[in-house]
Amino acid sequence: MMCADQQFPVIVVGGGVAGITAALDLAGANCPVHLVEKDAVLGGQTARLDKLYPTDHCAFCPVWTQSRLCLTDPLIRVHTHSAIDNITRIKNPSQDPGQDQAQEQELIRVTISRTPNMIDETLCIFCGKCEEICPENAVLPTFTHALPRSFLVDTELCTRCGKCVELCPTNAVDMTRKVEKIEITAKNIIWATGFADTDISALPEFGYGSHPNIMTSLEFESLTAEAGPNRGEILTPEGKVPSHIAFVQCAGARDQRKFSFCSAVCCMHALKQARWVKRRNPGIEVVIFFTDMRTEGRNYYNYYLDAVEKQSISLVRSRPGLICPLPSKDGIAVRYENTLTGKLNTQRFDMVVLNGALDPCSQNKTGPNKTGPDKTGPDKAGQDKAGTDFQPLTDDNGFISGNGGSGDNGDQTLSCGFCRAPADVEMSVIQASCAAIHACMGKGTH
Ligand code: SF4
Ligand code: SF4
Repeated sequence: MMCADQQFPVIVVGGGVAGITAALDLAGANCPVHLVEKDAVLGGQTARLDKLYPTDHCAFCPVWTQSRLCLTDPLIRVHTHSAIDNITRIKNPSQDPGQDQAQEQELIRVTISRTPNMIDETLCIFCGKCEEICPENAVLPTFTHALPRSFLVDTELCTRCGKCVELCPTNAVDMTRKVEKIEITAKNIIWATGFADTDISALPEFGYGSHPNIMTSLEFESLTAEAGPNRGEILTPEGKVPSHIAFVQCAGARDQRKFSFCSAVCCMHALKQARWVKRRNPGIEVVIFFTDMRTEGRNYYNYYLDAVEKQSISLVRSRPGLICPLPSKDGIAVRYENTLTGKLNTQRFDMVVLNGALDPCSQNKTGPNKTGPDKTGPDKAGQDKAGTDFQPLTDDNGFISGNGGSGDNGDQTLSCGFCRAPADVEMSVIQASCAAIHACMGKGTH
């Protein structure tokens, strides 16, 4: 398929798996794309995963390949460390003198703000000298599979002593880099801003923050990843082999106090993590506390059956009512009611992994790095009335409303992936391709 109008680009906001897919599909249809990502590198949450379900393949291989394609495609311009500042609707007068005014093309003018890292990743050769010399430990590497691999400077810790600037062999460090503004006239915008892990310490029964071994599933993924600190070994943060691990589902999801929606991805995600615990150390006892085991997808149910029947992963239908460190701190107590038998029980675990609280809009609440729609409404400063029409609508949970269609403006907003509705990698990729087709056909925002 070729794009109907190749004169103006499409803006894709969010460089995770959905945004990357939409950008590549658009470029494949000969449509120029600006891909706007708030972080230093492409890949989003998927790049931080160790494995993907139901194949159990490494997550980084496809993400790394797709990121590379984005970075090298002449039709895709990648803006990292960048955010959408402003969107204004404009009319493009018809170039055809025979065409009447009604045929004017509706376009959007988008201002992108780029807050560059002090280290230019295109010059950095990842020698690590800046990290070694920094007296404040302000220089941090990007994650292992980042492309390109580079370092970031924590501007709050950095004292601007200049030691790293002097030592860098490629002159990649520049303390004087300023925020840049780029204005682009585009025909459409696709939101693919994904989700963020959230702090659920406000729900005290889950005990998050009360013990280092009570963690979110994304924290557990980083800790146990092959590219992580323990090279794939299942160890607690203090480096011990755990004997019992609990996975607690719907922690902060399907809960009116936090997120009233089902995160959709968490049951399979917990099964994947539990299976990998067993693969790496069959001696560890694993229990998944679940509300409903949702395994919708090709081969997902077989993946679940394998976990239970072949890998001896225990499932308990329950949402624990209390998770708290033992007084000795040497373990965590989980108090729960088995909702199938009605029996109350308390069990000791070494680690508790909380699954469920994925926030579709939290990355839009991060101050200057705002990259997506804002639930609090558009920033009126410098934005005319027409511009406000293009703020995507969000529902009470922060999901962007609508995707294509012909309803009101919200219904026409193009979005894909978790920022639109709970979606795993497979579903996000399908939605991204649909959004790209809509943008190519001139459907969507206008
Ligand atoms: S010293 Fe320069 S080239 Fe080496 S890792 Fe640091 S920024 Fe990169
Ligand atoms: S300027 Fe000094 S404090 Fe800042 S990152 Fe470089 S070495 Fe560290």
